[in-house]
Amino acid sequence: MPMTYRMARNPMPEGPVSWWFDDAMKGEEGDPPVRLAGPLQADVAIVGGGYTGLWAALTLKQRAPALKVAVLEAGLCGSQASGKNGGLVSGYFADLPRLVDNLGADRAVRVVKAGSLAQDALRACCEPFKADLWWRGDGVVKVSTAEAHDSKVDTLVLTPRELGFPDQAVALSREDLQTMCASPRFRKGVLFREGAVVHPARLVRHLRREAVRAGVQVFERSPARAVEGRERHVVRCDAGHVVARDVVLAVNAALTDWPQARPYVTNFSSYALMTEPAPDVLRGMNWENGPGISDLRMFLHYFRTTPDGRVLMGSGSGPLAYGGRRPKSLTSDPAASERAIAGLRWLFPALAGVAVAAVWGGAIDVASDHLPFFGTISGTRIHYASGYSGHGVNTSWIGGQCLASLVLDRSDEWSTSPFCSRSRPRFPPEPWRYLGGRAIRGAILASEQAEVAGRKPGRLVRFAAAVPRALNMKVGTR
Ligand SMILES: Cc1cc2nc3c(=O)[nH]c(=O)nc-3n(C[C@H](O)[C@H](O)[C@H](O)COP(=O)(O)OP(=O)(O)OC[C@H]3O[C@@H](n4cnc5c(N)ncnc54)[C@H](O)[C@@H]3O)c2cc1C
Repeated sequence: MPMTYRMARNPMPEGPVSWWFDDAMKGEEGDPPVRLAGPLQADVAIVGGGYTGLWAALTLKQRAPALKVAVLEAGLCGSQASGKNGGLVSGYFADLPRLVDNLGADRAVRVVKAGSLAQDALRACCEPFKADLWWRGDGVVKVSTAEAHDSKVDTLVLTPRELGFPDQAVALSREDLQTMCASPRFRKGVLFREGAVVHPARLVRHLRREAVRAGVQVFERSPARAVEGRERHVVRCDAGHVVARDVVLAVNAALTDWPQARPYVTNFSSYALMTEPAPDVLRGMNWENGPGISDLRMFLHYFRTTPDGRVLMGSGSGPLAYGGRRPKSLTSDPAASERAIAGLRWLFPALAGVAVAAVWGGAIDVASDHLPFFGTISGTRIHYASGYSGHGVNTSWIGGQCLASLVLDRSDEWSTSPFCSRSRPRFPPEPWRYLGGRAIRGAILASEQAEVAGRKPGRLVRFAAAVPRALNMKVGTR
């Protein structure tokens, strides 16, 4: 086991700043970032100032107020995925069928209950500031936009009921859907009551303020370059270092090429756009408020409105990366941006005249079984978070609980949960992972395109799209 762990030189490729982050920073001109300069002693050094790092910091201060906790962020807190996402806050009810397949019913229910605790915690955090954080707790909806997806809706409605949650998933007819968001593409859907939407970048900047208020030292524009030592660690930055007993790596997709993470996680990307305001058009579509929505493609579209009458549309169809790396295509890929725009125009013809204000992309750390995992590198006090798989607004709170339990050496509901204790399948090694992943992704995109156009996908495409399931893989299965 090496004594020095080198961090990625460039944690993330430059790409367009998200509309959310731009908007959130407007109120913060007078609050300049503090850089780490010189040596610092702490109990815990947290690398990464997104939701995960900040929830971990806040949880540690709640559970052990005397701890000295420092957060080191390469850019500005929330400038990566936590400030780029769709702001759909959902627990695990929509994942229940897959969780039961992967983990069995008992552990699947444990995961779902953790998601509900996270939802309660986010609500408690956001409700008092709901006007500023654009928090709206109306649930989240999954819609079918192709005949091939209709049966998935039925499974999503039935599974929570069968496992003892009779009220969580509500079946929606085509007519029900039109009264909450009129789209000629919607066929049927399911409402998950516990979901919400939020302004993602204002949320992460709010967590940063709360962390500072709780006594956490937050350093921005302070990339960690290396972590040294075994029992007491030194985190090296350009102009200083932190000596700490525990280190938490909350760096999201920048962890994916670490040897400890690489077999279990790979980088994909998601692209999102924000329209210009169009409140009158939205009113005509019955879509001024309401839940966040996503379709049932594997490379899904996700969409929601904002209080100032905009639409956010995302597409999870961005490129994947070789060997856990972070190429520029993860943050600026014209074809993926076009797919997000095409999704907006196809789903909502009524928005044809509404201009797009901004498009951006971000990396998604996809776990081999689609569930995040938290752990400690053996023989060290370095703890890590990985594998949110595009579902991190709610689950990063779970990450904060699990990481705090690992730091505090507690054997509790978090450190023994499936997030920390399950065994995970391995991805195939490179180059097969990348080459196979690319081929299957292309086939699934083509197949889903044919399905929503009402065509039967070609035989070769159907064959390639079915490969992951035939091989009993957990990622890429439809
Ligand atoms: C376009 C897009 C849409 C999404 N939509 C949704 C959604 O609607 N709902 C949902 O639940 N999830 C969504 N997600 C996923 C969700 O945003 C993430 O899972 C979540 O933000 C992860 O939080 P994090 O703190 O782990 O990562 P991040 O927010 O990426 O934070 C990691 C931080 O670590 C920093 N860092 C990296 N390396 C270093 C270093 N060496 N030194 C110091 N700092 C470092 C980075 O700068 C970064 O700020 C989406 C993601 C994307 C990209």
